[in-house]
Amino acid sequence: MSTVLVTGGAGYIGSHTVIELHNNGYDIVIVDNFYNSKPEVLNRLETITGKRFPFYKVDCCDKDALRKVFEENEIDSIIHFAGLKAVGESVRIPLKYYKNNIDSLINTVELAGEYKVRKLVFSSSATVYGMSEDVPFTEESPLGVCTNPYGWTKWMIEQILRDYSVSDPDMKICLLRYFNPVGAHESGLIGEDPRGIPNNLFPYISKVAGGTLAQLTIFGDDYDTPDGTCVRDYIHVTDLATGHVKAIEYLGKCEENVCVFNLGTGNGTSVKEAVAAFEKACGHEIPHVFGPRRPGDIAVSYAATDKAADKLGFTARYNIDDMCSSCWKWQTMNPDGLPD
Ligand code: NAD
Ligand code: UDP
Repeated sequence: MSTVLVTGGAGYIGSHTVIELHNNGYDIVIVDNFYNSKPEVLNRLETITGKRFPFYKVDCCDKDALRKVFEENEIDSIIHFAGLKAVGESVRIPLKYYKNNIDSLINTVELAGEYKVRKLVFSSSATVYGMSEDVPFTEESPLGVCTNPYGWTKWMIEQILRDYSVSDPDMKICLLRYFNPVGAHESGLIGEDPRGIPNNLFPYISKVAGGTLAQLTIFGDDYDTPDGTCVRDYIHVTDLATGHVKAIEYLGKCEENVCVFNLGTGNGTSVKEAVAAFEKACGHEIPHVFGPRRPGDIAVSYAATDKAADKLGFTARYNIDDMCSSCWKWQTMNPDGLPD
């Protein structure tokens, strides 16, 4: 049985991916430093899967500590989720973002090379397409100019991995460009659990729906879109997790050293439509007001999904209503997030 090292596996996408890997027969080792997650996630994963996964509380920037994980486990592939992801924070403390995201990636790749791990999946983002208005974004769309340090770390790491692959052609690398992951596991036991006031739309709406926050501010209603609000490609986190399992399978048989896939649904949903869908899921109105545009936001972003469908056999199963109802279940079962 092959073992997957999941760095950042206690986080939002990582924890959902652990479940899908387990459901598909993989053994898993989780590494996380709990910078943006809590140990309780590991208990929840055990409740959901019936299995306690091997776990190391390690900062991937600490190479000696990370080496122990490679030393003690026979790792076959790696999914590298570990990274900081808050756009606004990355503008305030850019060096921390560059240091954490790039050092943790380089350590992981160096150790992968040393320990002959031949498959690596990296969490990239649609943010690498920059401010282009040429949608849908295909994997061949030119990389753009990012609007914040977080985005640049993804852009730079993609380049680092392309360069690395030339030096180590035996390593197969998959860059997954996520669109907007939302939703929660069907059990309601794990979901997105941001610290403090959320920045992203769905966690914010969830808190307004649950009564913790008074109202949502919709950032801009004067975009060149059908209803004036921004359009995004929201993808259920469980679908996204399945995409990672498909990527690992693909790396076992692909010819190319580096492959790139969008993970989205191919459907655009406006902010107003997202609010309406959430209102349907929770059964009451979401108080909201309209505010100015948020700097750096593009009007429309959605994925071309053909390549992931053809090569990975990946198609998203869940629609926006499923995403909202799973968010709402997670919110009602865990109004204050996971306990410390
Ligand atoms: P998350 O913050 O919930 O999970 C990341 C996990 O990595 C956290 O548990 C955190 O504690 C851990 N971590 C951070 N730095 C670490 C380090 N140096 N060593 C060990 N652990 C570390 O975020 P997420 O939403 O699950 O995102 C996972 C990955 O996907 C990130 O790289 C993120 O940038 C990327 N991504 C996320 C989105 C999104 O909208 N959620 C979109 C595109 C890409
Ligand atoms: N948004 C909003 N109010 C909020 C948070 C987000 O109107 O409180 C909008 C934001 O302008 C964008 C969309 O919701 O158009 C998705 O934003 P999010 O931060 O979730 O993801 P992004 O696409 O920026 O990565």
